[in-house]
Amino acid sequence: MLYEKKGRYIVEFQDIPKARQHHIEIDVDERRMNNKEVELGFDEERAIKEAKRCLSCRRCLGCALCWAECKPEAIVFDMQDEVFDLEADSVIVSPGVERAVDRVDRKYGLGRELNVITDLQLERMLSDSGPSAGLIIRPLDGDIPSRIAFVQSYASSTAPRMHKAAVIFGVNEAILVKRKLPLAQVTFFAEGLDAVLKEAGATQQSLNGAKVVESPVKGVEGNADGSIQVAFGAGDETAAFDLVVLLTQPQVPRELKDLGKSLGLTLSYASFLVGDGAGVITTEKEAVALAGEV
Ligand code: SF4
Repeated sequence: MLYEKKGRYIVEFQDIPKARQHHIEIDVDERRMNNKEVELGFDEERAIKEAKRCLSCRRCLGCALCWAECKPEAIVFDMQDEVFDLEADSVIVSPGVERAVDRVDRKYGLGRELNVITDLQLERMLSDSGPSAGLIIRPLDGDIPSRIAFVQSYASSTAPRMHKAAVIFGVNEAILVKRKLPLAQVTFFAEGLDAVLKEAGATQQSLNGAKVVESPVKGVEGNADGSIQVAFGAGDETAAFDLVVLLTQPQVPRELKDLGKSLGLTLSYASFLVGDGAGVITTEKEAVALAGEV
């Protein structure tokens, strides 16, 4: 088996539009005999596409700042690409999952309200080596939040395995939040939470006092004081929070198809990540298996 180790690994993002966006212009007929502005700028759709291009360079410039700043000296700056010919009796492919942050519906306020963050952003915040040195803070003003909501931000039709992965990730974070902020009121909005906890051998008590609302959230709006109003339930129920953490949907990694090709597998059964199976799953090649847990 050939194993290619990249010197500098740069992730290619396939969701980035390549073509430059052009300003909207008024018709030639409309321009005649007047001083109307010809270029109208971008509409929302073009602006978002262009902004994605702008943020997409994601190329290493070779400035070596990361190397200079990395105290554990984990970066070998002159590492070269290498190819190893490895012999193994069996290979277990464990691709993990990606988070579909770009698919989060705008009604959940991500990118609109500063005090709405994703579960991945909270994970960084909870880490002692993260941007806030382990402190849980509101991005708007740096205050310590006392009312925190975890909100499922994807459709209930999501594959059960993905839903379970997202909920368990969020539950673990909620437990850590309660440890760091024991007096904080934590509310967890997720569908089918009891069933997921049961499958994982846990109960709502595991959430360490967090309140559970098994209802989808209808929308999220910012209040003038920076708090976030969450609408939920069958009626017009709402509740205000200092910080909202969105549970994002895990998805099968895009690289899995390429990996399948290099292993000589179709990997069409990559649906193992969304099916009912668990554990290690065999493939059409006897010596290659997939690790099905997410
Ligand atoms: S800090 Fe400089 S060297 Fe390091 S990854 Fe970014 S561009 Fe490349």
